[in-house]
Amino acid sequence: MIPAAFEYRRASSLGEALQLLADGGEDAKLLAGGHSLLPLMKLRLAAPSVLVDIGRLSDLSYVREEGDRVAVGALTRHRDLQTSDVLHSHAPLLAHVAGQVGDPQVRHRGTIGGSIAHGDPASDLPAACLALGATFMVEGPRGKRQIEASDFFRGFLETALEPDEMLVEISVPKTTGAGWSFQKFNRRAQDWAIVGVAAVTGANPGIGLINMGATPIRAAAVESALASGASPSEAASHAADGLDPPADLNASPEYRRHLAQVLVRRALEEAGAA
Ligand code: FAD
Repeated sequence: MIPAAFEYRRASSLGEALQLLADGGEDAKLLAGGHSLLPLMKLRLAAPSVLVDIGRLSDLSYVREEGDRVAVGALTRHRDLQTSDVLHSHAPLLAHVAGQVGDPQVRHRGTIGGSIAHGDPASDLPAACLALGATFMVEGPRGKRQIEASDFFRGFLETALEPDEMLVEISVPKTTGAGWSFQKFNRRAQDWAIVGVAAVTGANPGIGLINMGATPIRAAAVESALASGASPSEAASHAADGLDPPADLNASPEYRRHLAQVLVRRALEEAGAA
């Protein structure tokens, strides 16, 4: 439970963070809330040589309206998403999902940027970002770029981020007045989802799945069934099409496939899918 030795650097600006990350080479890692990275380091599943602490970059902690979108700084803590008036009005799914992450201690430390960049298929916020059709703003030594959420998650704990890049902002289209639902199936309150579903209906419908594969996944088969006029229960029967969910102590792949169908149907009904 003791991590391997590492150098610690604290960044006081985005520019300094990017410089320290570049100086640290491929083994350097950003440290935001530390609630995913530090457990991996304690288990010696990660052993970065340099940690660049970005936890105090308060300029990157915000939720604000930008036209027909809402922009969220990568260092925004889950608790600040949960209590954001802007999100409650214009992207309530994101506020609600943030409130379902772990326990109050986790929500006061963990950041949305850390959750997205970690790319854990069991995490809640990546599925919400997939359902909302989010865009991720990234910065690095070669400048800025935007990555669609649907192109971001590449493999288990693997994303489209280069080692010297930082996720700086999450931008979601406003879903003011649209239906939405979040279904998180776990055995005890505050546990990680065994399977979860984030759904948005309305003009830009989307469905994200938790723990149904190696990455956070968009339920493409359900979305296309809905677009072809399928009922919520018909569409939900496609929730596990083409997916290869994991087996662990909580659930077999078969049980996860069953859960996905049940939870997608519940989500679509709650979100008011036609
Ligand atoms: P960190 O741990 O600091 O970083 C995670 C990874 O992302 C690292 O590789 C780091 O280098 C990288 N990183 C961080 N920020 C950036 C950035 N801006 N740009 C590029 N890379 C970056 N999550 C859930 O979704 N649901 C749960 O129910 C849940 N329960 C939890 C229960 C416990 C007890 C704990 C400890 C954690 C739980 N989590 C859960 C995870 C929690 O939400 C984490 O806080 C989150 O996944 C990671 O955010 P962080 O800010 O702590 O990131």
